[in-house]
Amino acid sequence: MANYFPVIGLEIHCQLATKTKMFCGCEIEVNTTPNKHVCPVCLGMPGAMPVPNKKAVEYAIRLGLALNCEIDLNAMWTRKNYFYPDLPKGYQITQTGGLPVYDHPICKNGWIEVTRADGVTKRIGITRIHMEEDAGKLIHDMSPTDSHFDANRCGTPLCEIVTEPDIRSPEEAVLALKKIKQILEYTQVSNANMENGNMRCDGNISLRPSEDAPFGIRAEIKNLNSFTNLEKALYAEISLQSLTLDAGKEVEQCTKRYNPDTDKTIVIRSKEDAHDYKYFPEPDMVRLVTDPAFVEEIRRTLPELPDARRARFMSEYGVTEYDARVLTDDRDVSIWFDTAAKKVVDSAKNGKILANWVISELLREVKDLEGGLAAVKIKPEQLAVLVNKITDNTISGKIAKTVFAEMFQTGDDPEKIIKDKGLVQITDTSAIEAVVREVVAENAAQFAEFKAGKVALKGFFVGMSMRKSGGKANPGLVNQILDKLAAE
Ligand code: ADP
Ligand code: MG
Ligand code: ZN
Repeated sequence: MANYFPVIGLEIHCQLATKTKMFCGCEIEVNTTPNKHVCPVCLGMPGAMPVPNKKAVEYAIRLGLALNCEIDLNAMWTRKNYFYPDLPKGYQITQTGGLPVYDHPICKNGWIEVTRADGVTKRIGITRIHMEEDAGKLIHDMSPTDSHFDANRCGTPLCEIVTEPDIRSPEEAVLALKKIKQILEYTQVSNANMENGNMRCDGNISLRPSEDAPFGIRAEIKNLNSFTNLEKALYAEISLQSLTLDAGKEVEQCTKRYNPDTDKTIVIRSKEDAHDYKYFPEPDMVRLVTDPAFVEEIRRTLPELPDARRARFMSEYGVTEYDARVLTDDRDVSIWFDTAAKKVVDSAKNGKILANWVISELLREVKDLEGGLAAVKIKPEQLAVLVNKITDNTISGKIAKTVFAEMFQTGDDPEKIIKDKGLVQITDTSAIEAVVREVVAENAAQFAEFKAGKVALKGFFVGMSMRKSGGKANPGLVNQILDKLAAE
């Protein structure tokens, strides 16, 4: 098989987290009685008039700003006409149409940055973000012969994010999708849950013989619902297109589906063109005119985004880049850590200690915890107190592990656990000296060797003294006292 160079572009659909639908007041509620939330507008009854949902427009603009897009203050609604049993209207209202005259999506010309495993940070263009309404749902599994229709999803607001064909490998495609999901979560415009289907991705991919050859003909793989499936589908399609090109044939432009069981992509239809949909401007609505002040207000209130938060964790709390990535991957984790870090004494210096506790202890426990981070009994402020107890020498790092385990089980305050269990570190020099002297007496021969210059034995004496004190002796003082006794 010859070596080909992939060119990839993504189309990502996400459901906006509004309370009501895109063009009517129907409530959005999932897992409820079928056809509970319907009205003449979302069923497309003749004469019913759509009115854009201002919150949905606000969310689309917020997303656009977070993805560094320009906002079109004079966007346009178009009608995409097609027949399908899940679409009672017979058309979808959208913001595309193939022809430049229809091409006024609410956001365009943005970008994101992703950092690859090799450390290279790369920019990927966002061509456009347009708003549209979702179709209903067909349910085929109720009996072998019947299909049922649920219109609750009809008219749910969606954003479609289209990237430039700037992606050069399946790994980069996964990073791009992860970054966009992360930004959807940070801006809270969508729940962006891929398992629930409120975010899904189509992957477009073509191959070319060298990195500067013109782009090849692409296939579009629809509805990839996980990072793994996106990556595997792209690899499967690379194999297939490579074989076609090796045989001297042309790739046929088509729409495909990925079957994870066979790890193959399957053609579902040859590529449809814009003219198949007979697009025209939506006659029931005027242009979507947006007040620049509205956009500026959204820009002003944009939350801190993942890249900025990561940089802040590094500069404000002295966290390493790797740790800052782990701590900002998930919005909830980042807020948890930030809340705790604000309560850590001298956080510029001790933030690193907190980061270790969150990553190595807390997140490790959370992995196996039903309900995830939300179910954790420890409050961020309580973990900050635990870290403060370590840094002010009330307890040793080792004792802190015991306290942490107890906190994780009970949600009790660290002070209470330390007090109830008598875990306060011994910093009374004479008490520690008594312990060390006992250890020295019990191991007189080794101590003589230590005194004679066998420094490697120091660790042994520190360890024994710590054990004898139940882990409560201050290790620094144990060290000092050992030196003093050795010099006697
Ligand atoms: P459509 O609406 O027909 O799907 P678009 O022009 O919106 O077409 O492009 C869809 C996606 O295909 C975009 O993400 C774009 O980056 C990607 N794309 C365009 N040309 C190619 C190509 N030759 N190879 C791979 N991806 C491509
Ligand atoms: Mg498409
Ligand atoms: Zn409705």
